[in-house]
Amino acid sequence: MKCAFMQRFGSFVHLLLILLAVSSCTTPPARPLAPLILVSIDGFRWDYLQKYDAPTLKALAAGGVHAQRLTPSFPSKTFPNHFTLATGLRPEHHGIVSNYFFDPAFNASFNKNSPADNADPRWWQQGEPIWITAEKQGVRSACYFWPGSEAEIHGTRPSFHLTYDGKQTSNQRVDGLLAWFDLPAAQRPRFGVLYLEVVDVVGHRAGPDSPETAAAVKEADDAMARLLAGLSSRGLRDQTNLVIVSDHGMSEQSADRVIFVEDLMNVSQVQVESTGPNGGVRPRPGTVTPAELAASIRAKAPPALKVYLREEVPAQFHYRDNPRIPPVVLVADDHWNIESRLGWTKFANSYNRGNHGWDPATPNMGALFLASGPAFRRGHELADVDNIHLYNLLCRVLGLQPAPNDGDDRLAREVLAR
Ligand code: AMP
Ligand code: ZN
Ligand code: ZN
Repeated sequence: MKCAFMQRFGSFVHLLLILLAVSSCTTPPARPLAPLILVSIDGFRWDYLQKYDAPTLKALAAGGVHAQRLTPSFPSKTFPNHFTLATGLRPEHHGIVSNYFFDPAFNASFNKNSPADNADPRWWQQGEPIWITAEKQGVRSACYFWPGSEAEIHGTRPSFHLTYDGKQTSNQRVDGLLAWFDLPAAQRPRFGVLYLEVVDVVGHRAGPDSPETAAAVKEADDAMARLLAGLSSRGLRDQTNLVIVSDHGMSEQSADRVIFVEDLMNVSQVQVESTGPNGGVRPRPGTVTPAELAASIRAKAPPALKVYLREEVPAQFHYRDNPRIPPVVLVADDHWNIESRLGWTKFANSYNRGNHGWDPATPNMGALFLASGPAFRRGHELADVDNIHLYNLLCRVLGLQPAPNDGDDRLAREVLAR
């Protein structure tokens, strides 16, 4: 039996409890208005932090949180992984399944170097990147380059974005990002995104163990020092949360560790959709079935090559669930590549010394994760963590409700200040 108080105020108390419960589920973090800056240093292998001279990054890691390795998603290439970092989705779910891929429904190919493809919404609709989540929930965002940031997604765009220009120096990009934080308060972004590629570009050309890559790491580190100085001079340094990641690592390769597609299959019967550390082939209509193609490639494949039907790609690669994935997937061992003989003699002489795209569990494919600022614990090292969990962490720092994704809250639970 209810007491008189409960009879009179029971429904009111009930309502109050519901309101309290709802507000505690959606309570933003302690400092909801603190700016957040997400930086990607493309191709920064996890161990470059110790291997090379990176005093700014080391100090940020020491004073904040730092993972041993950020494990990329398959394939460990730039576009799939930047969109995974931004969406929390595996490439099979966000649809940017490689740097180059074919969509059977569009009967068209995506090319990461095409400005039109970068800006064309149809390629990018399968995932919701963090800057779109932010804008939808009233947080202004500014992207200084990032794969996917040039396209309108779900009818929304970041408040500020740019057409990609690979010629811009790291410092120009830092200055450009900082200029957005000089805008009047009503226009100023709260969430900034910055993309630097020098470490990747030089890592390919000269290899991960070269003095050139050491110098590229120093250039990226100097750019981070410039970013911190710029935040300090604006009075923003102490309140700003910084998350610095990379998309994958880098491993050595050489022209004498190459497997040629022409030695594995009748190339007139297939569309070769990508080559490199991993590759994909699709039978042309009316030729062979994917199963026949896979069986015949397997019969000729050297030990350094794994051949999978899309449905049989190992579960840990999370790489089956999208028609954009080629029906036959080829994965070479670390240091090995799949190439075409077309133009090879010329190409072989200038073959890059470094590459990525191999199995994400390969130690050399490990990427960078560190974060620093008022939202984060201080001086905390964590073990390897999958890059699908970054999106949920960024949402927590910005006080956003995340879109459905493949990650969970394990990274946020471990690195956020209590
Ligand atoms: P990869 O190393 O083959 O995975 O591709 C990485 C390269 O793609 C970078 O070093 C840049 O040169 C280039 N890149 C990065 N972002 C973009 C972009 N948004 N649009 C076009 N090219 C890009
Ligand atoms: Zn990359
Ligand atoms: Zn690269």
